[in-house]
Amino acid sequence: MIYVFRCLIFFLVLALSACHQSTALSPLHPFPAAFHWGVTTAAYQNEGGIRNDWTAAGVDAGMAVEHRRRFGEDVEQMHRMGINTYRFSIEWALVEPKAGQWKTQELARYAQQIHQLKQAGIEPMVTLWHFTQPEWVARQGGWQNPQTVLAYLRYVETVVKALGPDVRWWLTLNEPMVYAIMTHYKGKWPPFHHARAEMDQVLVNLLSAHAQAYALIHRLDPDAKVSLAQSQAHFVPWRKWHPGDWLASWGYGQAYNYSLWNTIFQTGSSFPFNWSEIPGLPNSLDWLAINYYARYYITLQGQPLANQGEPANYLKREADPEGFYQLMLTAGKYAKPRQLPVFITENGWADDQDRQRPCYLLTHLAQVQRALQAGVPIQGYLHWTLTDNFEWTEGFNVSFGLLDTQRHWKHSAYVYQDVIRQRQVSQTQLAECPPSMRYSN
Ligand code: BGC
Repeated sequence: MIYVFRCLIFFLVLALSACHQSTALSPLHPFPAAFHWGVTTAAYQNEGGIRNDWTAAGVDAGMAVEHRRRFGEDVEQMHRMGINTYRFSIEWALVEPKAGQWKTQELARYAQQIHQLKQAGIEPMVTLWHFTQPEWVARQGGWQNPQTVLAYLRYVETVVKALGPDVRWWLTLNEPMVYAIMTHYKGKWPPFHHARAEMDQVLVNLLSAHAQAYALIHRLDPDAKVSLAQSQAHFVPWRKWHPGDWLASWGYGQAYNYSLWNTIFQTGSSFPFNWSEIPGLPNSLDWLAINYYARYYITLQGQPLANQGEPANYLKREADPEGFYQLMLTAGKYAKPRQLPVFITENGWADDQDRQRPCYLLTHLAQVQRALQAGVPIQGYLHWTLTDNFEWTEGFNVSFGLLDTQRHWKHSAYVYQDVIRQRQVSQTQLAECPPSMRYSN
């Protein structure tokens, strides 16, 4: 009898501990030794002294954070942090300030910077277009004009010929959908238009530019790895009980996160966009590049809300590491059958005081580890961004940097350095983060 009783107790304890384990975080395997640890920047937001269509429209980055002048110093900072991959963009307006007038000294400067990076053991990842163009391109109608596609291709050819042999990882475009929405639909970025039809046209031209640049880069360098950086967000129904909110948030996810991959990999519809006719678009990605920041709530009316009841404004973004994990799992479903690597090409948090960023970084990196453990072929994580910089129409009021503009290390920079060194987000580090990441700033 006592024996039976002991057995019962034993199995009860076993069952309880199994239950406990399933709710606790299971131990995470270390990141692979060959993992790409990085940071991402963009030319206009960092270099300084650039005149482009944004400057012309009055959104002037001025000297930004003088990244061009302080490049050597910034490479040292990255090296010290343990970073082995640096994603940055080339400024079209510097390379071709007037139509057909090529500034070879600017190309030589970029080539020299790539050389400096390589000497420090840092792999360059080059974005060919990050939201900006020369003024003459804007004057001819910007991305609404199909001629801009041709101009862009001439620019891409010139850059790839100049830098090609030293660059393996290329991104033709950064977040075409964000750009089209902000410039031609929400009217918040130059040229500040509000017309859905224009937004659609801009997207078609951008994606056509990507498709042709993909082929062009491969013609110039068959070993190149070409992609485009796509913004993804976790869309959740605002009212958990409301079928309309569920449907709307599903629709948002399909349109914003997956319509492009569905068109490119011919796995589904691009609804509500019409991209199936764009020549060269199918299979025009050698790797998947995801920029992920936060979750958005969606109502039946379709208005995305960045946090509890506040109007959408990315300063009010709400962190959602679990949502990040779910998106990585879905990315794995696209990537695995095609044997494509996945990179997180941006992930970051605006935080003036650097109070929440350390935990944002840790919890999101832990989710990357979890996704790796679940078999998602993630090869790199690049944090947005190295130093505080020029945040588009928000100017210098928003701080996304691991370092401040003076290059002083914030606590987050040490946290990142530590994770890179250990190849691990430790349970001790995670334990110091709030159990719920439903914070906002
Ligand atoms: C953009 C960056 C921007 C960052 C933070 C990304 O979507 O690529 O240029 O600074 O978000 O808002």
